[in-house]
Amino acid sequence: MKVLFLLCLLTQVPVTDSLDLLVERVHDSMISIDTHNDFSMQLAFPEQRATVTKGQVSFELMKTGRLDAAFFAAYQGQGPCTGEDHGRAKYLADSMLMALHRYAREHRQLGAVAYSAADVRTLKKQGKASLLLSIENAYCLGRDISLVEHYYRMGVRMICLTHNGNNCVADAAMDSLETHGGLSPFGYQVIQEMNRLGMIVDVSHASRKTCLQAVQASKTPVMASHSGVYNLKKIPRNLTDEEIIAIASRGGLIQISIGRYFLSNLPKAEVGMEHLLEHINYVVDLVGIDHVGIGSDFDGGGGIVGVEDMGKMKAITRALLEQGYTEGEIGKLWGGNVLRVMEEVARNADGF
Ligand SMILES: [Zn+2]
Repeated sequence: MKVLFLLCLLTQVPVTDSLDLLVERVHDSMISIDTHNDFSMQLAFPEQRATVTKGQVSFELMKTGRLDAAFFAAYQGQGPCTGEDHGRAKYLADSMLMALHRYAREHRQLGAVAYSAADVRTLKKQGKASLLLSIENAYCLGRDISLVEHYYRMGVRMICLTHNGNNCVADAAMDSLETHGGLSPFGYQVIQEMNRLGMIVDVSHASRKTCLQAVQASKTPVMASHSGVYNLKKIPRNLTDEEIIAIASRGGLIQISIGRYFLSNLPKAEVGMEHLLEHINYVVDLVGIDHVGIGSDFDGGGGIVGVEDMGKMKAITRALLEQGYTEGEIGKLWGGNVLRVMEEVARNADGF
């Protein structure tokens, strides 16, 4: 806050205006990254009836909200684990990834697909948004290990091991049954292959055993791309202190989701910035600023009062400044930590 008042004193502008100026300056000097949204399903299959709010994600909104980069997930729910269903899951994932590539191409004046931390930095200098590709639910791999490289070649740099149901790779947090006791033998192979290629292992949606085993199995830091704190909202999808500490102890990240489902038991209309900050502050207090960030879950159920879409991301920066976070800390939380993990994962890759 000292910086803010000094700025007011020097510029002789009211505090509100100067805070707005400071927010802009902070965004000028850092890279902001949101690690999860579900834009792709509607994009690839517009005829699908949406069950959650859509329209929260676009390059235009990213520009308004000063969001520099985002992981766009090729998302799908869990179905039966048969050959035919695995074929369909691959078709869906491929279609969504192709639709995202097409979206970037059709909006090339505003953004592009990014494949590395260096790409994100270059695009920021050009004033363009970075579209990073991820997969939510390794269901699309079926039992075929060669598909990990197939998806790497399609530009995917992060895979979320499960969605709400168990698959051939691992057990999920929201499944009432335990199939593998965490990772399956195939799941261990998948993580090894992701390490070889340079892809981030995403443990959001994973069961507690899967999460803890993935942290140990991966040679590089893992990420929970969109989660909350279990001690603040007791749902299986949120992370326990044990999981948060385990992820952080290996250099990984806990990305807090901007959604009522993760943050609070209050009615949706009453869940806002204070609840998001509560989860962020909890992780910072437990494991430090180097292990926390934002994963909105926009177009997949995300959105709180005051941060309804990507165009409102600056409100988070403002709230963090008001809370007393320094510019350096905000830079880490908003994207510095993610870039660090992306670089470490890429550095440890064996090539393909
Ligand atoms: Zn999700």
